[in-house]
Amino acid sequence: MSHVIDGKAIAAAMNEQTARSAAQLRARGIIPVLAVVAATGEESAARYMRSIERAAARVGIECRIHRLPLPASLPQVASKLGELSRDPAVHAVICQNPLPEGAALAAVGSSIAVRKDVDGANPESLGMLAVGLPDAFPPATAAAVLEILRHEHVSLDGRRAVVIGRSSVVGKPAALLLLAENATVTICHSRTRDLAEVCREADVLVVAVGQPQLVNARYVAPGAVVIDVGINPASSGGLVGDVDASAVAGVASAITPVPGGVGPVTTAQLMRHAIRAAISEHIQ
Ligand code: NAP
Repeated sequence: MSHVIDGKAIAAAMNEQTARSAAQLRARGIIPVLAVVAATGEESAARYMRSIERAAARVGIECRIHRLPLPASLPQVASKLGELSRDPAVHAVICQNPLPEGAALAAVGSSIAVRKDVDGANPESLGMLAVGLPDAFPPATAAAVLEILRHEHVSLDGRRAVVIGRSSVVGKPAALLLLAENATVTICHSRTRDLAEVCREADVLVVAVGQPQLVNARYVAPGAVVIDVGINPASSGGLVGDVDASAVAGVASAITPVPGGVGPVTTAQLMRHAIRAAISEHIQ
């Protein structure tokens, strides 16, 4: 059977460290502040925001949620993000997805100052990641994928990594981070031919597609590590990933579960980024 990676335990260890850093900042009179701009009334967005609020409270970060009057326009969202970026009391800024009018995050992300852009929403942050400049934050989910691999001691140097999904928030930045660890990276998407065959070349398979249980045993080489980023509502209620975990269980050496895998590590990574932003603002 595959080893089931415990994302909650990884997140707990990260949060402990983050809480220590937050306490050190507070002891110096600095309150770390994460601002969230909410521009839609969608329930999934509201649920995510509540979980961010709880996570921030647990580690000693003040979370300020700015709810824009609905319906909010993109210029209003951009203006609020800009205002928070200029506020010296705010260290980290994120914008809740989905955006009004179905717009991509990149449409307003450039209004977030790069040094406060803890979820990598500014296209400049992605560009800096692409050219290997260290001073920008990658999107928390992509960073969480790498954190899980690091925690599980999965070697990447010279190994084959396949990422399914090419979004700017998960697939592309995850591929760039894997490349920075010297993996040989293939990015797949909806037009990729022979997807299962390409995936079977992977030592590490990262799946960020948004299609419930798309990946089954045909996609996985024996012994591969599978990171399932997908979060999809299950027909029976609850959540399922992009990987059919029970089908892959006898083939992969390790797999992240859904829920309890990438999700909690993503939130922990966001908090870690927020603290890093506060530290670099005041101390470095
Ligand atoms: P997205 O923007 O919709 O991108 C999905 C990607 O998958 C696209 O590149 C698309 O290809 C590709 N794709 C779709 N169907 C495919 C298929 N049948 N075969 C191959 N590729 C296919 O989604 P996203 O924002 O990256 O999110 C992906 C998943 O991760 C979702 O389930 C989302 O809920 C989840 N997620 C989880 C977290 C977390 O914290 N765990 C955070 C963010 C997202 P094209 O580019 O060709 O359309």
